[in-house]
Amino acid sequence: MTIQFIDLKSQYRAMREPIDDRIQKVLNHAQFIMGPEVREMEGRLEAYVSARHCISVASGTEALLIALMAIGIGQGDEVVTTPFTFAATAEVIALLGAVPVFVDIEDDTCNIDPKLIEAAITPRTRAIMPVSLYGQAADMDEINAIALRHNIPVIEDAAQSFGAEYKGRKSGNLSTIGCTSFFPSKPLGCYGDGGAIFVSDDALGKAMREIRVHGQEKRYHHTRIGVGGRMDTLQCAVVLAKLDNFAWEVEQRIVLGERYRTMLSGIPGVQLPVVRRDRNCVWAQFTIQTDQRDQLISSLGKAGVPTAVHYPVPLHQQPVYGPLCRIVGSLEISERIAKRVVSLPMHPYMDNDTMQLIVSALKSAVSGS
Ligand SMILES: *Cc1c(COP(=O)(O)O)cnc(C)c1O
Repeated sequence: MTIQFIDLKSQYRAMREPIDDRIQKVLNHAQFIMGPEVREMEGRLEAYVSARHCISVASGTEALLIALMAIGIGQGDEVVTTPFTFAATAEVIALLGAVPVFVDIEDDTCNIDPKLIEAAITPRTRAIMPVSLYGQAADMDEINAIALRHNIPVIEDAAQSFGAEYKGRKSGNLSTIGCTSFFPSKPLGCYGDGGAIFVSDDALGKAMREIRVHGQEKRYHHTRIGVGGRMDTLQCAVVLAKLDNFAWEVEQRIVLGERYRTMLSGIPGVQLPVVRRDRNCVWAQFTIQTDQRDQLISSLGKAGVPTAVHYPVPLHQQPVYGPLCRIVGSLEISERIAKRVVSLPMHPYMDNDTMQLIVSALKSAVSGS
């Protein structure tokens, strides 16, 4: 048996019929761009997160870009965010000529530390962009309160946290705008690229719908600069099929995350991920910390356990972002954690025997060191 890091084949086997049916319907009606499944999926997702508007887009990256374009981010503006994330978060800021302003993270959740944000705000700050990393929402209420005092919007990068709850509300609908990704390995994935934006402000919703299709207010009438940012009908069909099983998958992720935490507790030198009491985590990644990372990765690999590092280099230390970002305070937690994190296999179709195997391999790797 090979252990999968994320097992998309088992998921397909479990949902083959509804997925095939949904795809076949699209092939039959042949409306590959903005077909009926696009609006149907948006409606289902609006209901799921309780937002007034869902705008489906070509990817999670496109979602972030369109959100920033809609609030008018441009040259010289500043957006406060975390350096400990996937590059797309800062990339879209820089792409618009704005400056990513990095503040450090919390050592246990790896999310942006809200206590450090206020000091990063200047008259040029135009937005705060927290990331709900690994599937757990950032401290959104604290962040929203700071934003409110400065009258700036908050864009949640919820690419890893779709399905997660924070104080009884759904990630993606915790601030001015929420952006998610349907990249195949995300908690809710399609079979290619896809993403969605959530917003309850009608004017922003309208702006983002227009930006998604070349800034068209109506056909061939362009009122603003936009992008080619639509999500394919086929990909929306896949998401629709998977949505029927998504509540079960989220439940399963939470159960498996708890099981991992129980089985891995008390291993010397291994720091487990922490979930705050007022929220849950959908475990886009189950990421532990250890000082013996390289050795652990190699031992696990020999035992047939795949691993990944999310993320090995914080963004302020990346060749491209180093010179164009602004750093506020020390980013030493991000720098330290980038050397310590390693993600274990995690997906809703993992059986107990597989988890037992992974845990045993990890225990013998640690005791052998
Ligand atoms: C995956 C991801 C993105 C980008 O999503 P794509 O759909 O791959 O463009 C952005 N931010 C974070 C935190 C991600 O994990």
